[in-house]
Amino acid sequence: GNFVPPVRSNGGNVASISSRVAGKCDDSLEDSTKKCLEMLCGPDGELPEKLRNLEPRLIEHVSNEIMDRDPNVRWEDIAGLEHAKKCVTEMVIWPLLRPDIFQGCRSPGRGLLLFGPPGTGKTMIGKAIAGEAKATFFYISASSLTSKWIGEGEKLVRALFGVASCRQPAVIFVDEIDSLLSQRKSEGEHESSRRLKTQFLIEMEGFDSGNEQILLIGATNRPQELDEAARRRLTKRLYIPLPSSEARGWIIRNLLEKDGLFKLSEENIASICELTEGYSGSDMKNLVKDASMGPLREALGRGIDITKLQKEDMRPVTLQDFEKALQEVRPSVSVNELGTYEQWNNQFGSLA
Ligand code: ADP
Repeated sequence: GNFVPPVRSNGGNVASISSRVAGKCDDSLEDSTKKCLEMLCGPDGELPEKLRNLEPRLIEHVSNEIMDRDPNVRWEDIAGLEHAKKCVTEMVIWPLLRPDIFQGCRSPGRGLLLFGPPGTGKTMIGKAIAGEAKATFFYISASSLTSKWIGEGEKLVRALFGVASCRQPAVIFVDEIDSLLSQRKSEGEHESSRRLKTQFLIEMEGFDSGNEQILLIGATNRPQELDEAARRRLTKRLYIPLPSSEARGWIIRNLLEKDGLFKLSEENIASICELTEGYSGSDMKNLVKDASMGPLREALGRGIDITKLQKEDMRPVTLQDFEKALQEVRPSVSVNELGTYEQWNNQFGSLA
């Protein structure tokens, strides 16, 4: 068929694009920046209104570093969390796939909060949503806005929402959202972080009231730090708890099977699941990694040279490897912390 290049070839546009962005003249823009701007142009070859007053280098940063064209996580990759998956499908994926049906009474909230202990799959859910809804995924850690982008955070936030609105449907995932929208006392709050927070809330308000196909997902391990304004905008709040025993078993099987190392009996898996009460998904991953080093260490202990080692020289991973690994990899979440999440969930979470 007719091949249509993704980058516009009529170079004449470049001048008109760059001359419109934040008052820059063409010559001062790098080629990569020009290309990036061209990709964001509408069918008329013009840069969308929202991007015209933004700094080109920030637009480029958002396009290259924050935007992920292929998040590559599917629902099947996530163990357990059936409740969260069901809620998210109804609340988020269907509306993104069928905006025409989800109007009026059915119009969806544009803000979703995923809260719970670290390493339980919040980021995976964000990516899976984007994958399932065929949306562009934007990932930003809120703490990088306050630490790395000092003084520029506001501008970057504008660029982020600007680019997202040109790439709809879009999912913006803000990790550690508490560091951006926390309920610090206003007098103790830094002027710049207050401005950043305001800018962020303004942007959210903007797409919430419009017809834009943008979903904001905030993730946090410290939901109790969020203030009332943040809670109001993140209308659905889902608790992402530690994996159940069944989900832990699934993670072990899945990781070992992927590498062709799976030889454990169901009794072995059940024993490991019993021993890993309180482990997060990410702890489980570390545990499997450590356990799968067992056969390698043993083969090398028999005097086999690492450069000559064949895969067949290693025995399968056993329950004993896991028992040893359990000494090394400890659970990263304490029981006390869990109580705080459950309390917050009862008070503010979307329980249904
Ligand atoms: P969070 O965002 O909640 O801190 P992530 O989604 O980044 O956690 O998870 C970190 C890693 O832990 C993932 O890349 C994955 O390997 C593993 N993991 C965590 N939760 C799960 C889960 N429910 N199913 C499968 N793997 C998981």
